[in-house]
Amino acid sequence: MRKNLAGIIQLLSEAEDMGDPVEEGDQGMKAALLYGPRDVRVEEVSKPRLEDGEVLIEPRVGGICGSDMSRYRSGPMICPPVVIGHECCGHIVRLGKGVTNFEVGQRVVIQPNCGCGNCLLCRMGRDHLCPRRISLGVTVDGCFAEYVKAPARYVWPITDDITDEQAALVEPLAVAVKTVRRMGNPAGRRVMILGAGPIGLLVVQLLKLNGATVSLADLIERNLLLGRQLGADEVVNVTKYDPRENAGSLTGGEGVDVVVEIAGVTKTFEQAIEIVNPGGKIILVGIPPGVANIPPEPIVRKEIEIIGSFIYSYEDFHRALQLVGQVEVAPLISHRVPLEDIGQAFDILDKGEGIKVVINLREEVG
Ligand SMILES: [Zn+2]
Ligand SMILES: [Zn+2]
Repeated sequence: MRKNLAGIIQLLSEAEDMGDPVEEGDQGMKAALLYGPRDVRVEEVSKPRLEDGEVLIEPRVGGICGSDMSRYRSGPMICPPVVIGHECCGHIVRLGKGVTNFEVGQRVVIQPNCGCGNCLLCRMGRDHLCPRRISLGVTVDGCFAEYVKAPARYVWPITDDITDEQAALVEPLAVAVKTVRRMGNPAGRRVMILGAGPIGLLVVQLLKLNGATVSLADLIERNLLLGRQLGADEVVNVTKYDPRENAGSLTGGEGVDVVVEIAGVTKTFEQAIEIVNPGGKIILVGIPPGVANIPPEPIVRKEIEIIGSFIYSYEDFHRALQLVGQVEVAPLISHRVPLEDIGQAFDILDKGEGIKVVINLREEVG
């Protein structure tokens, strides 16, 4: 009897060696968890257990997002902590019941905000606003781990011409696609972007592809230089110049039709009201904490449209995938860090020393 049991265990471990895990939930994996403000730990946790309609993915490259940084500074949204990370690509290692449109081994990218599929908003194609949506790395376990699971309908196959790093940055590119979509046709518009982080730098490129004139404002010279290289017509270092004064000089003194606030600072939102031309639009993408001091009068007198832009729709994500290559994402990557050193990766961004930091989730990557 005892011998039989040993034989079965041997068989099971051989099956695992062959890449065919038996019971995911029972096995361990390394993952990064956020315990509190500036407290990220790489620990051994259970491997995800697949539900029907889900796929199990071995992530290869992940990206740290501005929203990850906000949570890193403020602490996790839920307790006990979940595995952090939502931007990643990898390949499928297991299919849940009912998944027929994927194969094991396929390279994929995850769309990490998943609507319920049934509510009014989901049926309207606004699944990113679904009150029951799950967000990987925020409300459920995310991708800074050796394995991550996701609903198959929120997983996109990627072609071989897209590198792992490009694929990992499709998610922030989708945020930028959505931002530009919210302003209407950008052709011929004069746009000022307040904030030259990764999303701002992607918006610059999308606007240039679409025939807009772009001014980019930030306080970090390195990001502004990159913005210039990626096509911005003008850059404004706000530590030296007031963007409210500079806005008028853009394109021969005609001012700014659209202001995009990505810095996530209440002061820049307040400035946007002053900067934008009468009849113009303000697109809010950053999420400033606190309360802005916004007088209603200029909004009325200048007929300003204030438009929020949150996450992206299914179509935006698809569009982002198609745009990889036309939009350069690789120049945004300032650091590459293995999963074990993820604390350093957050530290780099916390000190303002990086632009986009990617996490190598497999030893053999880069
Ligand atoms: Zn993101
Ligand atoms: Zn829904």
